[in-house]
Amino acid sequence: MRRFLVAGNWKMNTNRASGEALAGALAAAAPSPEDGVEVLVCPPFPYLACIGDKVSGSAVAVGAQDVYFEPEGAFTGEVAVNMLKDVGCQFVLIGHSERRHVLGETDEIINKKVKAGIAGGLQVVLCVGELLSDREAGQTESVLDTQMAGALADISAEDAKDLVIAYEPVWAIGTGVTASPEQAESAHEYLRKWIANRYDSSFSEQIRILYGGSVKADNAEVLMGQTNVDGALVGGASLKPELFIPIIDAARKLASA
Ligand code: PEP
Repeated sequence: MRRFLVAGNWKMNTNRASGEALAGALAAAAPSPEDGVEVLVCPPFPYLACIGDKVSGSAVAVGAQDVYFEPEGAFTGEVAVNMLKDVGCQFVLIGHSERRHVLGETDEIINKKVKAGIAGGLQVVLCVGELLSDREAGQTESVLDTQMAGALADISAEDAKDLVIAYEPVWAIGTGVTASPEQAESAHEYLRKWIANRYDSSFSEQIRILYGGSVKADNAEVLMGQTNVDGALVGGASLKPELFIPIIDAARKLASA
């Protein structure tokens, strides 16, 4: 049985005080491991350590929003896998649409980052998703094919055993427009079949596929209630406990059903 994962991507938001207050509220409300729901927060790099301290001992895990693929050296401004582990990170987001489309990250770079994250023992949340123009042109599945094949090139099933996929249609991120449950389920089912073809079906049944794109309290349950949706990657609604905790509660309700 796949455990739900509800992840908050804080992006370039919060400061030390507001991040700590948010993390403290989540730690207090987080489900116990028996609830079948994991909670993850991904604060900006400078706050990873203090947020890690704040959630220490709770069921909330901490992840970074990105990582560089080289282990050390003259790469000004970049952060290595071991640095993330050193400050208590267990997860890392890779290939978020803002990294792809705002910061120009290619599938080749994403593949190097996925390999580095896995080799260093981080749980990688690989983000994929199509632009509105791709969807309108009927290209959603071919975009997912390209992104998945690129990101997972030369990565074995054994290496990918802790991988999490986040399907995030770009047109739904931060727009208030959410994929319908049917659109989400269709893309998730496609991704699970893609993984079964590339690896094998028992592996594809274990892998968690999160939905991201304007998830809120009022749509979380129906989206996460789809057969192939195993949680949510949440941006805007992860920045306030009163918005994020109901999404965690929706997963908890589905896990106990
Ligand atoms: C995201 O940034 O991954 C995201 C899904 O953002 P939002 O929930 O704000 O659409």
